[in-house]
Amino acid sequence: MVMVSAYARPSTMDEALELLSWSGAVALAGGTRLGGDSSAREVEVVDLQALRLDGIRADGEHLLRVGAMTRLQQLVDSDRVPALVREAARRERPSTLRAQGTLGGCVATGDGESELLAALLVHEALVHVETSRGADSVPLESFLAGLPLGAGSVVTAVTLCTDGAAAACHTARTPADRAIVAAFARQTEDGRRVALTGVARTPILVRLGDALDPVGDFRGSSEYRRALADVLTQRVVEAIS
Ligand SMILES: Cc1cc2nc3c(=O)[nH]c(=O)nc-3n(C[C@H](O)[C@H](O)[C@H](O)COP(=O)(O)OP(=O)(O)OC[C@H]3O[C@@H](n4cnc5c(N)ncnc54)[C@H](O)[C@@H]3O)c2cc1C
Repeated sequence: MVMVSAYARPSTMDEALELLSWSGAVALAGGTRLGGDSSAREVEVVDLQALRLDGIRADGEHLLRVGAMTRLQQLVDSDRVPALVREAARRERPSTLRAQGTLGGCVATGDGESELLAALLVHEALVHVETSRGADSVPLESFLAGLPLGAGSVVTAVTLCTDGAAAACHTARTPADRAIVAAFARQTEDGRRVALTGVARTPILVRLGDALDPVGDFRGSSEYRRALADVLTQRVVEAIS
């Protein structure tokens, strides 16, 4: 567990950004990952809960804006959220942790096995970030490639497209376990998007024929993950065609 040397709960974004610019300061959202951090480093915690960054609302036709402090369970429960994203949020963590963990925490962590992030990639997610230099919106693919997040940055929301036909397929050791590899696909009038977990440092968008070089572990070698990626991609593409 990290050692907390100071705790602050700012009520404005300006105050939060100022506090987060200090060396050793970290944003605290649901705390499920920070609490499980075994590095024993000393941190100054900036709790985001008073900033009112939660809520799910329509943001134009086929667009949904989800606040960064929205809990994973709120995503699961919302009938505004596309079914693929709701199911991926449900598979992310057990219910006790879903009630605590936030979308912002998941995005800022960028875990390579996150099915929620893969679902968001095919739903063309845009990540909204505030820094002392102002607000910016970045496609999730670029945001994940740029992790870790720079000091003094706060993810405020994620916007996603809700239209189109989508499908997911995964292989895991047991039905409730995290997937070794998972494939997500979505088809719209503008084209098809396919995303994979378990084959790179973060979930990634892939095009058919892309060369993958996954790191193997005790659940699956590099070759096995590559083979899974091929098979699961074919299945999800068939499902949306
Ligand atoms: C024991 C344990 C181990 C876990 N290990 C992993 C793991 O290895 N990989 C993984 O993906 N998930 C892991 N998780 C799952 C974790 O619960 C999810 O990633 C979750 O969605 C994190 O959300 P949170 O709100 O709890 O984040 P927090 O724990 O509060 O924060 C996680 C990270 O994101 C940053 N952050 C959070 N919100 C924002 C924001 N709005 N803007 C900027 N930065 C922000 C924090 O500073 C911190 O670095 C673990 C959970 C547990 C309980």
